[in-house]
Amino acid sequence: MDKFLVVGNPIGQSKSPIIHKLFATQTNIELSYEKYLTTSDDFDDDMRNFFTQGGKGANVTAPFKEQAFALCDCLSSDANAAGAVNTLYIQNGKIVGDNTDGRGLVADLLNHKVTLADKTILLLGAGGASRGVILPLLAQQPKHLIVVNRTQSKADALIAHFNDSRLSTISYQQTAEVDVDIIINATSASLSAELPPLAPTAVVNATCYDMVYNHQLTPFLAWCQNHKASQVIDGLGMLVGQAAESFAIWHGVKPAVAPVLNSLREQL
Ligand code: NDP
Repeated sequence: MDKFLVVGNPIGQSKSPIIHKLFATQTNIELSYEKYLTTSDDFDDDMRNFFTQGGKGANVTAPFKEQAFALCDCLSSDANAAGAVNTLYIQNGKIVGDNTDGRGLVADLLNHKVTLADKTILLLGAGGASRGVILPLLAQQPKHLIVVNRTQSKADALIAHFNDSRLSTISYQQTAEVDVDIIINATSASLSAELPPLAPTAVVNATCYDMVYNHQLTPFLAWCQNHKASQVIDGLGMLVGQAAESFAIWHGVKPAVAPVLNSLREQL
C-alpha cells in the first residue's frame, strides 16, 4: 500500500489524514496516510529516509514549509514564488516540492462564486501564508492586490519580491481610504482571538475570507459580519482545497471537495 504522511510540529491537530482518507475512499485508492512529528534537526534526514524507504508523498505543515523548500531538488513555480513547500513527492529519484495552498484558496473562493478578475483585493498579513497565495491570486487577474501588514518592512519586502505592477502595500491606517471587493485575512490573529487593526469602513460590502477556521465564526469574520461585509468565508475550504491539489499531484485524479468539506464541517 502506498505510504503518505503529513509532517509538522505540533502535528496532533492536523486534519490531513482524515481528508486524504476520505479522498481515497471516494476515488477507490488504497493508501496509508499518517501524522509524523519531527524536529527541525531531524526533518531533512526523516524526509530523505521516508522517500528512500518507498514513501510516495508528504504534506508539510508549520513550522517546516521553508525547510522543505530548502530540501527539494526541484520546485514548482508556486513553490518557488512562495519560498515554501507543502507537498513533497519523488520524480526520477529527485525530491520535488510544490505549494498548493494558493490553489486551494483560489478554488475555495471560486466555489463560493467569488470572482477575482478585475477586483481589488486586500491581503492582510505578510507571513508565509500570504506569500504563498500571491502568485495564484495574481493568476486570476485582479485589478489590484494590496498587502497590509502590522510590520510594514515585511510587506515592503513581499512587494519587492514579486515585482508586479498590480501589487502594492498600504498601512492599516490607510485601509480607511480604500474601496475593496475582497479582503483575505492571512494573519494568524484569529488564532489568539485578536483582530487585525483594519478600518471598519473597508469591510462594508466586501467579501471577507479568514484562512483560519473554527466551529463558529472566527473573531475576524464575526467582526466583518457586524460591519456589513457582504459575505464571510472561513479557511476550511482552503484546507480541503490544498489537500485536493496534493492528492491530484500524487494520484493523478482530482477528488471532489464538497462532500469532504461537508463531512469535516460536521466534525468541527
Ligand atoms: P506567519 O507566522 O508566517 O505570519 C503571521 C502573520 O500574521 C504576520 O504577517 C503577522 O504580522 C500577522 N499577525 C499576527 N498577529 C497579528 C495581529 N494581532 N494583528 C495583525 N497582524 C498579525 O504565519 P503564516 O503566514 O504561516 O499563517 C498565517 C495564518 O494562516 C495562520 O493562522 C495559519 O493557520 C493560516 N493558514 C491556513 C491555511 C488553510 O489551509 N486554511 C493554510 C496556511 C495557513 P507581523 O509581520 O507584523 O508579525
